[in-house]
Amino acid sequence: MSEKYAGRKFITEFMEGELERDNEFIGHMITSARTLKAYDLTPDTTGNISIMTCEGMYIKSGGRSLGDLTPKDIVFVVDYNPGENRALVRGGKEPSSETPMHWLIYHKFPRAGAIVHVHDRVVLENIKSVERKRIKITEKEADYGTLEQADEVLDALLYDDYAVIKNHGSIAIGNTIEDATRLVIDVHKKILEDEN
Ligand SMILES: [Zn+2]
Repeated sequence: MSEKYAGRKFITEFMEGELERDNEFIGHMITSARTLKAYDLTPDTTGNISIMTCEGMYIKSGGRSLGDLTPKDIVFVVDYNPGENRALVRGGKEPSSETPMHWLIYHKFPRAGAIVHVHDRVVLENIKSVERKRIKITEKEADYGTLEQADEVLDALLYDDYAVIKNHGSIAIGNTIEDATRLVIDVHKKILEDEN
């Protein structure tokens, strides 16, 4: 299985001022999190979801439960600089450890408006079924939160909106977070059906 969680692997710089959390983006993220929880796709503090806007990215803060997500668990990443490995953040909390991966996906794929990433045990434990269905799997195993892992995921999403991150989890991109959530659940159900 993948390495143990050992914190964030990038630098966070906080911006002054409160984050306005009473908006539709956050509303859609809460709905997505509830739906994922209903399928048991949010164990412990694993998984994260995000939405890109023209000003930056809403994402779950680090170490919070996705299944019990509330608006105050969401922060806003104004910028991420891969060269400096530094994120500029509003909202007073550290963003998810997988923030660089989310940010780089949006910058490579304009078709992505939202990302859902979960540690789907059904998918990971039935990888033969995943292969039979010709679902994309990242080639090399990389440590979470690193640019190496982000690169693997970027390659996998070149022609597909869903990919399995080897020995780690699943990731889906969508025009909206509803699309990405549906994709994750559709694959989850397909693999479950195949195994039963
Ligand atoms: Zn993960």
